[in-house]
Amino acid sequence: MRATIRIDNRYSINRHRLRAGRHHFDDPVESADVFLYKLDDAEARVPFSGLRRTNAVGQTNRRGKVTLTLPHENGNFLLRILPENWSSAAVGPNLSRPFPAGAGRVYRALDLKIKIDGNPGRTHIASAVESTNSKADGEAWEVRHNGINVVLQPVWITNHTGRRRVKNTTDLIVVHLTSGSDPYGAVRKISSRAGAHYLILKDDGQIIKFLADTVQGGHAGGSGHSGNPYWAGDRDINSRSVGIELENVKPSEADADFTEAQYKSLLWLLQRLVDTHGIDPKRVIGHSDLAVDMNIRDFDPGFKFDWPRLGREGFGPPGPGRGYRTARSLIAAGPGALGDGLYGGVFKGLPTDPELRQGDNDRRSIYGGNPMADITGQPILEILTDLNRIGYWVGRRGPGKTLTAEAMRAVRYFQIHFFATELSEAPAGGRNTRLDRQTALRIFDAAAMS
Ligand SMILES: [Zn+2]
Repeated sequence: MRATIRIDNRYSINRHRLRAGRHHFDDPVESADVFLYKLDDAEARVPFSGLRRTNAVGQTNRRGKVTLTLPHENGNFLLRILPENWSSAAVGPNLSRPFPAGAGRVYRALDLKIKIDGNPGRTHIASAVESTNSKADGEAWEVRHNGINVVLQPVWITNHTGRRRVKNTTDLIVVHLTSGSDPYGAVRKISSRAGAHYLILKDDGQIIKFLADTVQGGHAGGSGHSGNPYWAGDRDINSRSVGIELENVKPSEADADFTEAQYKSLLWLLQRLVDTHGIDPKRVIGHSDLAVDMNIRDFDPGFKFDWPRLGREGFGPPGPGRGYRTARSLIAAGPGALGDGLYGGVFKGLPTDPELRQGDNDRRSIYGGNPMADITGQPILEILTDLNRIGYWVGRRGPGKTLTAEAMRAVRYFQIHFFATELSEAPAGGRNTRLDRQTALRIFDAAAMS
């Protein structure tokens, strides 16, 4: 009795067929060696790296298929699958390139424990389960009497075309979300455009690599009609950053949410990246933080992204997760404590403190749309200077004395990041953004800690 093993790449599975319960092998794993050992054989204990091709029962063809003859023997066997390009390295900076250029995909090797009913005349595969490896590395997708369909986990997808520039430096990490709620679309999009370096999947927090850390991606956007990204004085963000995409749980970007598994993987990856490249851990930001000068998505990774959790681990601009000292002490001391101090005293106390809005300016002392004659300082200039010090782009000529539309976008992106997890709904966009007292206090603290 002959059996067929078919091996496919896990994240190129056609999702429409998948939903219909029909798996279609449309991205086969070529040149994978397949081994079969009786489970009590010494060879069943040989590590993957010790396997010799000559001992393989076969090699997958271009359709990811290998055919083998089942032994006429009852018992448990080990079906070992060793793709041509494979790695057991954790997916992060250490997964680097011993692979030939254009390797396409790098996979995990996989052990399946299979049970064979070897009775002559009706020899068949009775069952197959993942053995030494976890299901996360691949799985027996479909088990039949005369064959097993296997999907393998890609750890590095390198099938994009075109030459990639090597960066001079890597000193910034940008966190993104994928649109939609579907790993297949996300993998396809990132791999075809080679945008980001990593993707973290929602279900199990698996990390897939797309680009070497030292190579320039296109995740930050910029150059052309969409404007330029900006952070802390730098505009050429792609040439100095690593991009990490998080698969979004919710279909809507504004409601984007993430799983515990994703946060664990993200924190693990951030630590490795910071250690490997000597990145200042403060320089972990969201895509929307650097998008003030660009027309891109506002919620990237969004106001539900747990910046405070990252902050408690020491990642990201100081503030979230690390407290706001001035804000706390002033609020505890009561409204009068603001006096004439902070930001020219424009937020001097409840209930009359104004919410600054677009068009307000220091030159004519217009705050909250009304003249306030008793303001002696230049609160708007001071606030925009602080926002810019944190890292935000506040306008073409830097901090000014007017709350322009651009400056208000910086306020909005500040709120999305620095009030993350505290907001129950998305901050109002565009002209509706308000610069209230609490926001101003946080800007003051975050700038002081930057
Ligand atoms: Zn993004």
